[in-house]
Amino acid sequence: MTQRNRPLGPMTKAIHAGEGPDPATGASAPPLHMSSTFVTDQVAGFSAHDLENGPEGFLYARWDNPTVAMLEKKIAAMQGTEACLCTASGMAAATAIFLTFLSAGDHVVVSDVSYAGVAELARETLPRLGIEVSTINMSDLEAVAAAIRPNTRLIHTETPVNPIGRLTDLAAVSKLAKEAGALHSCDATFASPLGMDTVGLGVDLTMHSITKYIGGHGDAVGGAVAGRADLIAKMRAEASIHHGGILSPFNAWLIARGASTLPLRMRAHQVGAQAVAEWLESHPSVTRVIYPGLASHPQAALAAQQMSNTSGMISFQVGDAAAGQRVAQQMIDRLQVIHYAVSLGHHRSLIFWMETAGLMETSFRLEGAQLDAYRAYAGDGIFRLSVGLEDAEDLIADLDVALS
Ligand SMILES: *Cc1c(COP(=O)(O)O)cnc(C)c1O
Repeated sequence: MTQRNRPLGPMTKAIHAGEGPDPATGASAPPLHMSSTFVTDQVAGFSAHDLENGPEGFLYARWDNPTVAMLEKKIAAMQGTEACLCTASGMAAATAIFLTFLSAGDHVVVSDVSYAGVAELARETLPRLGIEVSTINMSDLEAVAAAIRPNTRLIHTETPVNPIGRLTDLAAVSKLAKEAGALHSCDATFASPLGMDTVGLGVDLTMHSITKYIGGHGDAVGGAVAGRADLIAKMRAEASIHHGGILSPFNAWLIARGASTLPLRMRAHQVGAQAVAEWLESHPSVTRVIYPGLASHPQAALAAQQMSNTSGMISFQVGDAAAGQRVAQQMIDRLQVIHYAVSLGHHRSLIFWMETAGLMETSFRLEGAQLDAYRAYAGDGIFRLSVGLEDAEDLIADLDVALS
């Protein structure tokens, strides 16, 4: 007997969720609907507040578009949530979370190390709007607990954190958020939906820059937030319909094409990164490697418990800032396969030097114990290496020439 009602596996979901043969043409591949408006047979209101009781089907692309909706269903299925909202970029996804769930007088606890744009948004923009912000080392659970105030509405984590690969115990932070009556949002871009069961770990809103692993090919910018249907509906009304930061249908179509192979790619990213990380760890010019799949990761036990795929992101050091700058120049001059460029999660490998002093002046501004905790992972600076899908031997040969 075949079992029709068993849950679909992750590969099947990535390929089929949100899609189906086109009823009009029978096309097997999903169509690209660029239409900004949709002919309707219903008399509808034109307010975001009409969303819940709005018309069946589509009205206007800032509300909803069939190609974007297809990608939203696919990401929700992969992340295991009821719903998903796609946005113009990962930054638009972070902004959507903050500006939907925070108002003047509210307090938010944000990871003291996070994607630079998120760090600057939290430190510069939110206080300007009357929102109180605490930036906390999320690997220090006592510090997270101590930061919570009666008006704390949101705790925003990121794990593994960009760019140093430090981890946050999501189940523990979810518990603290729940006790405080706050939402827990997590930027899971580094891990991808395949890396962590954020829903099982109690996260309310899982955010991704889909420019990275979900799209996976470095040719489209986008963002996503996955979570409960009521939370996502609130975000759609605020962030899409009012703020207007919607994903283009063309980008949604490209990113959905990439997302179909995400489980396969994540497995290959992990295998490649493990091989490169182990090789880097044995290289005489490399003084420190941080990768969640290495036994030497300071939080290896948490990685094993929380991550089902350790992804392709490696951080490594080559000594002090002067050594880092010298090796960065060698990489720019000598790398033939790996691109010296920002961004991550693509099929092409990417590497970039990130000096601690510069990041502290601009994005993070950490001092005292928080700066010491950063330096425990990054020293004077790190190379952030996004291991792509090339043959690991070719990446190793490329790095060997650049490091010597
Ligand atoms: C890239 C990135 C972002 C921002 O995403 P964009 O698509 O570039 O706007 C947010 N968080 C993390 C962890 C990222 O790596």
